[in-house]
Amino acid sequence: KTRVYRFGNKSADGNSEMKNLLGGKGANLAEMSAIGIPVPPGFTITTEVCTDYNLLGEEAVLSMIKEEVEASIVNIERLMGTKFGDKNNPLLVSVRSGARVSMPGMMDTVLNLGINDEVVLGLAIKTKNEHFAWDSYRRFIQMYGGVVLGMKPASKEDIDPFEEIMENLKEKRGIYLDTEFSIQDLKDLVYDFKDAVKKQTGHDFPINPWDQLWGAIIAVFNSWNGNRAIYYRNMHGYPEDWGTAVNVQAMVYGNMGDNSGTGVCFTRDAGTGENVFNGEYLINAQGEDVVAGVRTPQQITRLGSKRWATLAKIEEQDRFENYPSLEELMPSIYKELDAYQQKLEGHYRDMQDMEFTIQDGKLWILQTRTGKRTGAAMVKIAIDLLKENKIDEAEALLRIEPNKLDELLHPIFDPDALKTALIIAQGLPASPGAATGKIVFFADEANKFKTSILVRIETSPEDLEGMNIAKGILTARGGMTSHAAVVARGMGKCCISGAGALKINYKKRTLTVDGHEYHEGDWISLNGSTGNIIEGKVNTIEPKLTGEFAEIMKLSDKYSVMKVRTNADTPKDARVARSFGAQGIGLTRTEHMFFEVDRIKAMREMILADTVKGRKLALDELLPMQREDFEGIFEAMAGLPVTIRLLDPPLHEFVPHQLETQRSLAEDMHISLEAVKIKVAELEEFNPMLGHRGCRLGITYPEITAMQTRAIIEAALNVKAKGKIAIPEIMVPLVGTVKEFEVQEDIIRNTAHTVFKERNDSIDYLVGTMIEIPRAALLADKIAKRADFFSFGTNDLTQMTFGYSRDDASKFLPVYLEKGVLKVDPFEVLDQEGVGQLVKIGTERGRSIKPNLKVGICGEHGGEPSSVEFCYNVGMNYVSCSPYRVPIARLVSAQAVI
Ligand code: PEP
Ligand code: MG
Repeated sequence: KTRVYRFGNKSADGNSEMKNLLGGKGANLAEMSAIGIPVPPGFTITTEVCTDYNLLGEEAVLSMIKEEVEASIVNIERLMGTKFGDKNNPLLVSVRSGARVSMPGMMDTVLNLGINDEVVLGLAIKTKNEHFAWDSYRRFIQMYGGVVLGMKPASKEDIDPFEEIMENLKEKRGIYLDTEFSIQDLKDLVYDFKDAVKKQTGHDFPINPWDQLWGAIIAVFNSWNGNRAIYYRNMHGYPEDWGTAVNVQAMVYGNMGDNSGTGVCFTRDAGTGENVFNGEYLINAQGEDVVAGVRTPQQITRLGSKRWATLAKIEEQDRFENYPSLEELMPSIYKELDAYQQKLEGHYRDMQDMEFTIQDGKLWILQTRTGKRTGAAMVKIAIDLLKENKIDEAEALLRIEPNKLDELLHPIFDPDALKTALIIAQGLPASPGAATGKIVFFADEANKFKTSILVRIETSPEDLEGMNIAKGILTARGGMTSHAAVVARGMGKCCISGAGALKINYKKRTLTVDGHEYHEGDWISLNGSTGNIIEGKVNTIEPKLTGEFAEIMKLSDKYSVMKVRTNADTPKDARVARSFGAQGIGLTRTEHMFFEVDRIKAMREMILADTVKGRKLALDELLPMQREDFEGIFEAMAGLPVTIRLLDPPLHEFVPHQLETQRSLAEDMHISLEAVKIKVAELEEFNPMLGHRGCRLGITYPEITAMQTRAIIEAALNVKAKGKIAIPEIMVPLVGTVKEFEVQEDIIRNTAHTVFKERNDSIDYLVGTMIEIPRAALLADKIAKRADFFSFGTNDLTQMTFGYSRDDASKFLPVYLEKGVLKVDPFEVLDQEGVGQLVKIGTERGRSIKPNLKVGICGEHGGEPSSVEFCYNVGMNYVSCSPYRVPIARLVSAQAVI
């Protein structure tokens, strides 16, 4: 069995198909090498070895891979003409993790591995650059110490122990930049770093290159089970047993002088999706310098440089002299890079995110991967690639991550509010969007306020969780490819980076701009599309479904078979949903209408009435209000079916529980306070979700069903009279026996018949039922004899199949998820294995009687991608979900067909 795969010199053992085995990075390095891209030679240790390591431990695994690794190092030595550990002509390597999918910051990279007290001297002679050699050594101890040996800051307010040593030395020497260290300084740093390692870990820093290599490989394997990786895995639902590969690769240097450099580039704009090659680089620097945002980098293209200069308010002349683009500074290298980026995007047929290094005038490509992008960029790139004939329609649809569409449906800043907004500073528009929140300075405090903006000098992988919680991210340092920018775009989170005017003081928890001080808890707003940082809170408005987004939706509808309806209780929701492409309403919960002030009173009187007569009087008051609601909804959905569900919740939810309200109700009804109290107590249930609710209400109080039916039918006729088409579908909730449905259906049909006679008019309507009690799913064939349609209420069906109370599950579900008892929350993601069986059985049995029975879903799952796909596979006619999820469901419904 091969455990180590080599690449380099335009050939490779692996290829891009082998992501599971070689990890994304390893597979891409192999592929790039094979298609003739100049990647530094190296090898990949497979993800299987990581799994073996977790089972068998260090010793067993090292003996397993020893020979192959040693031979592969010899192969690199041969290709580079250098030797690992040799003091005259040393080979140095980098060691990186690489899971199947990119997990930014899971493990930091270790660079310059293979250096020690002897090798550093040889490196200095070979490169004729003593400063570079010692700087590499200093960086190596720092990285290896942090990543492999666990040298961390003592607390979050402290800085990294190595940084501290450097800061102290800078102060002593009166210098500011890392680049200002003298050779002697670097030697001192190496000495002090090693000393610090010994003090903190109790061990000498490893000087044997092979010991260094084995240590780094094991550290990569361990990083798979580190906190950051676990958090990232859980956030994305990646299983633990994937493991990570280890990539070992010859070092090339971007910091060998002014003829060297390093950068990151994107084949298209990762924020907007625009088809422009862009990126950033630094002369005389190593890759980490760009990503870590320590120095603000320069642009790759002349165009990018111009845009950036405008943003940073830099004069053209100054830009050209001090911040020239790579295109201007190294035209032939730029040309070569441009050719490679075109080749790579063409090869992978998707936007690529590449890293490169120029070593002494030679260009090396270190990495390429499918670039992370915002939701807006995702949509634009898919449509553009389609128009460029690079991918077909099906592929374009599959390129859209359903949940990422959500970003495009988020509110944007109200242009009117922006006119008067006070812009306090500007940074780079690293990830678009509108975010408003209270300032926090530490990632682990992001949840201190309901909405927060994380403000940092720069972010690091430790901040991942907090970045996810915060509404937006603002950093003082770093470019468009800094950690903050890349991660934020991946999360679809608004981010402004490199706002150099900000002075951040972590100890005092303040942000100062132009002498004005902002504190933790102060409101600020970020416009991630322009880079504007705004004081206070700015109002937001709803976005519109236009441009490429609309094109994706049109394409979705072309492919999908299943319809997408919406759950809407008001004309406004219905209109929003219709603008998002809803093809009808799958659920109108009528109870929500009763909670409005003027109605709740009549509702309460109805509930508290002792006689049928009293109840009818109260219902008569409610009738016109309900009719009006329904008219509005029918009009908003004219021409499309509207499913209205009869009253469902336990009556207890409507009665007053506070003494004051009870008293005023008693006065209104001319009864004693005592009588009200008794009635309220009578309605109290031990288990209301399994109590007097659903069709049980309509059976005990048939007048309610009659009133609601009358309201629906009269409203439909009124709308018809206005020349519009109303298509009512009346739905009975919580049916468990056929008889329950029959009793309700009789009332509905009789009432409708009466109204038709009164009006001397009629309209088509359906009477169907929700399937949300397991018994109903099992007896679906019997129910289908009478019901015109089924709609799966998977909220209740999940509640009753699992036996988890919907209202109490939040007490134990988080623990279940944490302990792995459940993989996902079944109220969010349909449990296909269990609840799904009932959905299947119910659909099949129903259709065994009525082959064309209309079947849909209206539980929360109707807008969740994996559940929507399941619904398609079961053969449903439609899914129904909240207005904002309609576009997502439309897309998934098309993807399911493809
Ligand atoms: C359901 O149970 O899935 C449903 C849609 O009804 P409700 O959530 O109102 O109980
Ligand atoms: Mg229900």
